[in-house]
Amino acid sequence: MRRMLTIAAVAMLAGTIGLHADDKTAARWFSHVEALANDGMEGRNTGSPAHKRAAEYVAAQFKKAGLEPAGVNGYIQPVGFKTRKIVEAESSLALVRDGQTVPLTLGDDATISLRVDPAPAVEAPLVFVGYGLNIPERGINDFAGVDLKGAIVVYVASTPRSLPGPLQAHFGSAGERWKMYQAAGAIGTISIANPKSMDIPWERSTLARLQPAMSLADPSLDEAPGQKLSLTMNPARADALFTGSGHTFAEMLALVDGGKPVPSFALPARLKATTKVERSNVESQNVAGILRGADPKLRDQYVVLSAHLDHLGIGGAINGDSLYNGAMDNASGIAALLEVAASLHEAGTKPARSILFVAVTAEEKGLLGSSYFAARPTVPQASIVANINTDMFLPLFPMKLLMVLGLDESDLGADVRATAAAVGVTVQADPEPQRNRFVRSDQYSFIKHGIPALAMKVGYEEKSPEAAIAARWTAERYHAPSDDLSQPIDRSAAAKYVEVVRDLAVRIANRTDRPKWNDASFFKRFASGT
Ligand SMILES: [Zn+2]
Repeated sequence: MRRMLTIAAVAMLAGTIGLHADDKTAARWFSHVEALANDGMEGRNTGSPAHKRAAEYVAAQFKKAGLEPAGVNGYIQPVGFKTRKIVEAESSLALVRDGQTVPLTLGDDATISLRVDPAPAVEAPLVFVGYGLNIPERGINDFAGVDLKGAIVVYVASTPRSLPGPLQAHFGSAGERWKMYQAAGAIGTISIANPKSMDIPWERSTLARLQPAMSLADPSLDEAPGQKLSLTMNPARADALFTGSGHTFAEMLALVDGGKPVPSFALPARLKATTKVERSNVESQNVAGILRGADPKLRDQYVVLSAHLDHLGIGGAINGDSLYNGAMDNASGIAALLEVAASLHEAGTKPARSILFVAVTAEEKGLLGSSYFAARPTVPQASIVANINTDMFLPLFPMKLLMVLGLDESDLGADVRATAAAVGVTVQADPEPQRNRFVRSDQYSFIKHGIPALAMKVGYEEKSPEAAIAARWTAERYHAPSDDLSQPIDRSAAAKYVEVVRDLAVRIANRTDRPKWNDASFFKRFASGT
């Protein structure tokens, strides 16, 4: 509480001594980051009382900024989830080869993903399928010559470089992969990460396996129907799967890294899995508010500004700290939304269309809150004309470049180029499409319903000192308790980012025509009527 008063006092002082508007924006932005990422918010885990408090904070700020409530109960849209927690002591994994059973250690060798609801017991043959893709329109079929009926598909979690970035992102997603595997008759999956594209080391990522996993309670929104098992294999132990096959994982990885074709073949082993799960149900919150537009013909159309509110809560301790504050991921993005709403309110800006602000839950559980909102929006789905999403935009150094995911996919690209140019910032397309960022955050939930979307971050040149800072942040702080309020942050970059989001939203809301996908865009297919 004392911290909150201090910040209010600083903001007032900034007003009285006439600080630059950027400083005021930066100070208010950071006050929201502090309100959402302080230890009292307990890491805002989906479904937790702390997340509910964070949602109430956002709702109160929406109200203060004059937004119309656009949830189901006021600003809140409740979202129901099924939760699953593994009982590792009563679960097991083993490979059966030549009549011999070789146990695998849960956590060290592999983890059972509970994003998929596992069958209590599974025993099935293993088939390695390289990249694991079947995309007829691109002439890719990794399933040729192997039988996947009743099998567990083993694949390297990479996509061929011959695919353009957005297609790598789309087809590399778990949901799209499962559609292909299910169509081929498979019952489960083993994903082996490519060590070169792992954001965080196995030792850190495996800590999350004991946390409850979630899926949307609404069965029609289940992304893995019929999947009996989903394993993630530690790449350092993946050779256990290849024993006796005449191949090694290192050999397969060298082909992937060299951009060469990867063979598909049956592995001479069966996998035996027993999974004991504790199940329950939980409710969490999306928060939605509307800045009503001024044009009587366009005000019932919406530009959605989104960011996720949830983070990882309290989890495995790293350096003695178990509280995952999620300051950059993604209190920073919610704070940007709140500052956009407040500054539009102060300026009395009324764009032609309405702007719908949405703080979504359960991003960290697999984009579930946005998935729910995009499927069950609180305004007619067809009235949403665009989505601009902010997730972990990383204001770690001055913003000279704006990284735009989806830049060349729709005519929103022209809007973001013009907006950025007006504030002296150059846009760049995703410099690392192999990290699949375009489908790894909430904008993708809107894209899948045909809504043109962009996501943005503070950009950097490849191999620059800024690139090194961003890489170091990812290695050390991403999904770690050290993503907290004590880290170095460039508040002027945050202020500039807020300005871009605000101006972009207003520009799109004032367009005479409705945003559309580019004809060449892969994602155009999701738009209704095409
Ligand atoms: Zn995250």
